[in-house]
Amino acid sequence: MIETRPDEISPDELRWLRHLGVTKVQMGAQSFDDHILEINKRGHDVESTRQATALLRAAGFKIVLHWMPNLLGATPQSDREDFARLWNDFCPDEIKIYPNQLLANAELYEYWQRGEFQPYTTEELVHLIADIKPSIPRYCRVNRVIRDIPGNNVVEGNRRTSLRQDVHEEMKKRGTKCQCIRCREVKGKTVELSSLKLNDLAYQAGQAEEHFISFNSAEDGLAGFIRLSLPSTDSPETGMDDLNNAALIREVHVYGQSLGVGVEKTGAAQHVGLGTRLLEEAERIAKQKNFHKLAVIAAVGTRPYYLDRGFERGQYYLVKEIK
Ligand SMILES: [Zn+2]
Repeated sequence: MIETRPDEISPDELRWLRHLGVTKVQMGAQSFDDHILEINKRGHDVESTRQATALLRAAGFKIVLHWMPNLLGATPQSDREDFARLWNDFCPDEIKIYPNQLLANAELYEYWQRGEFQPYTTEELVHLIADIKPSIPRYCRVNRVIRDIPGNNVVEGNRRTSLRQDVHEEMKKRGTKCQCIRCREVKGKTVELSSLKLNDLAYQAGQAEEHFISFNSAEDGLAGFIRLSLPSTDSPETGMDDLNNAALIREVHVYGQSLGVGVEKTGAAQHVGLGTRLLEEAERIAKQKNFHKLAVIAAVGTRPYYLDRGFERGQYYLVKEIK
C-alpha cells in the first residue's frame, strides 16, 4: 500500500505501482469542495480526485480516501454535505476520517489567533461523526477516525484519541448503527457455512458498475466479500493490455481462521471455501454482463490461490478467460 496525492495518479504511475506490486492506494482527498481545498492550500482540486479515483478503479486498485472535517472555512453542516459527496463518483473501498487539528506550528494557528478558525469541540466532532456514520454504504470500510497526533500537541479542540468509542456510544444512545465493513466483520468467530446468505450489492461508481458480493450471517455479520468492477466504454484508459475488455476483481476477503484466502484447503473440506464461491459468483455476473475476461490484482502471497483457480499470469495482473 502506498499513500499519494490525487494529482500524482496517471497511467504511467499506475504501471509503475503495479511493477512494484502495489495493490492498494491511499489518497488525501480531504474535501469535495474546490473553495475549501483552495483556501486550505491543498494543492489539488475535486476534479483531480475524481480522475485519480476513476483511473485507480479502472486499474483495479483498492481505493482508500482520507476525508478531513473541520478544514478552514467548513462548518459541521457543510461537512455533513461534503461527506455525502463521497458516495456519488468516488465511492472509496475504505475511508479514514482525519479531523483537522490545530497545532502550534501550523499556519492554521495564525487564523485561529485572528479568530478566523475555530476547531470543533470534542462534542461537536462526536455529533458530526455520529450523524454521518449511518450513511456509510455497506461496501465501504472505515479504517480510522482520528490521526495519531498526541493530544498534548493540539492547541485547542478535540484531544480525545478514543473518538471511535465516543461516537459509537453516541450512536447507541440514538439507536443508529454504522453498517460499514469494519462494524460487521465476523472476526475470530466460527461461522456456519450453511447459515450464510449470498448478497450482491450493485452500485454505480463514476463510469463503472460495481458489485460488492458478500456472504452474511443471520445476524448480519460479514463473513466474506469480493469486489467486482465492470468498466464501461467511458472508463479511463489504463494502457495495460491485461485489462483490455476485462472485468476486474479488486479484492477478495474472507474472515474467520480456517476460511481465509490462501489457507482454504483444496479438496479437504466438503464445502467449497467461501473465497472460491465468491470468485464463481463474480465470474457468473461478469459473463452475464458480456465480459470475456477476469483480471485480478493480487499481492505476491495470494497469487498461488488464483493460479489454482484457473487464473494465469499476465503482465501485471492474473487473468482468466471466461468465454
Ligand atoms: Zn462502521
